[in-house]
Amino acid sequence: MELLSHPGDALEWCAAQRARGASVGFVPTMGALHEGHLELVRRAARENDLVVVSVFVNPLQFNDPRDLERYPRDLEGDAALVASAGGSMLFTGTLEQFFPDVTFEEGRFPPARLADPGPCAEGLEGEARPGHFAGVATIVERLFQIVRPDHAYFGAKDYQQCLVVQDLAGCWGGLEVVVCPTVREPEGLARSSRNQLLDPTSRERALALSRGLFQARDAWSAGERDPERLAALVAEQVQAAGLELEYAAVRDPERWSASTPTWPLERAVALVAARAGAVRLIDNLELSEVSAQLPPAASGTPTPAL
Ligand code: AMP
Repeated sequence: MELLSHPGDALEWCAAQRARGASVGFVPTMGALHEGHLELVRRAARENDLVVVSVFVNPLQFNDPRDLERYPRDLEGDAALVASAGGSMLFTGTLEQFFPDVTFEEGRFPPARLADPGPCAEGLEGEARPGHFAGVATIVERLFQIVRPDHAYFGAKDYQQCLVVQDLAGCWGGLEVVVCPTVREPEGLARSSRNQLLDPTSRERALALSRGLFQARDAWSAGERDPERLAALVAEQVQAAGLELEYAAVRDPERWSASTPTWPLERAVALVAARAGAVRLIDNLELSEVSAQLPPAASGTPTPAL
């Protein structure tokens, strides 16, 4: 596997591969890779001639400087994992290298150069993390310019991010965004690079996110359709575990809305964000796709669940 430390080299490498007719699958990440990321890489390897992975802890999408500072980093370990999962090239770079055409003002990225993340950035994550999705859209747009992939793979764990990226990819003819199921620990906790920052007590508490989501899904299966009551089931679990709840909410997967849908729901997704000490965790579960999503406890293996 090729390891490139400059986005300019990555652009040349990708252009050369495309010129010889190879199809390219792309997996953008912030590194500290785990099974969730590797599933994206494996799927990309099955569906494309080549798999390109980016590892870049994008400062533009962190609204909390402490979160950025604490974010785990392990490029060497990541490269070994990507190679073992079928990756062809991994690249990284600095913010300045990704944006050589941008004049940084006193070391700061000019707000006028941030991309518009569109309407799906409104509400929930967009509200809890001001500026986050503008930062995501800005780097994803640049990564697409560098790689020009045929397929780009994203995880359903970052539900709202997938919506923002799908909107953005609409401007890229021929690019298909593939949303892959959330990979969970056997106990239900969604895999996340931030999980390694959890001490054993916080990790135990963090199980409340998926527990709450599974309870909401059970309630949906039993006929509950009130989004507020479904969200309250998630909130109760999270708060009872002693986590600091940021939001628990239900949305319509057919149509994003910043606030709770007021129309009758035929499908529903529950989304949650909470803090275990300094560690911020998010998760979500589509409540209306029961057959495809047995809870991990029932199947005994880490269950992909949207
Ligand atoms: P990140 O490194 O957190 O920016 O994530 C890179 C990509 O991996 C994003 O598309 C995430 O949604 C995806 N991802 C992260 N965690 C998981 C997971 N547990 N299951 C599936 N995809 C994931």
